Amino acid sequence: GAMRHLPYFCRGEVVKGFGRGSKELGIPTANFSEQVVESFPSDISTGIYYGWACVGNGDVHKMVLSIGWNPFYKNIKKSVETHIIHTFKEDFYGEILSIVITGYIRPEKNFDSLDELISAIQEDIEEAKRQLDLPEHLKLKEDNFFHLPEGKTVNNH
Ligand code: ADP
Ligand code: MG
Repeated sequence: GAMRHLPYFCRGEVVKGFGRGSKELGIPTANFSEQVVESFPSDISTGIYYGWACVGNGDVHKMVLSIGWNPFYKNIKKSVETHIIHTFKEDFYGEILSIVITGYIRPEKNFDSLDELISAIQEDIEEAKRQLDLPEHLKLKEDNFFHLPEGKTVNNH
């Protein structure tokens, strides 16, 4: 359920999440709309993945992604949230986020404390950075998918 669908390409608008306070933890997650989440293969495993991400026609950055159960919908629907490993000057709600998921790290877990949660995510980020430098993952950074079609780019003269 985790690897079979990879690499997985996906593009959609960044919507407001349900305020789990990811940003307060220093790990903001850009949420996809319910419609985009519904378009994912229904048998894709929940858990933590990594890959590449790009906001609008911006640069392509490393990312970690969680596919989890959405508490807002009483855990019957999935949520897909991308933490881009880059410091942005501003929020980008409403922008188009393009991602390719290239690998799987681990299943979802419950943590006893916030400290344990944060250190697990920091380990996920380090693992993602290492894996994404390997040729088989690095090559997807240059994929044509990240070059938006003519006429859809911002400031396209
Ligand atoms: P929400 O519950 O609305 O998803 P978060 O605390 O998860 O709130 O913050 C997510 C928002 O933070 C994103 O939608 C995006 O606009 C912004 N953001 C800023 N930097 C990043 C980043 N590096 N990765 C993901 N989102 C970021
Ligand atoms: Mg979020």
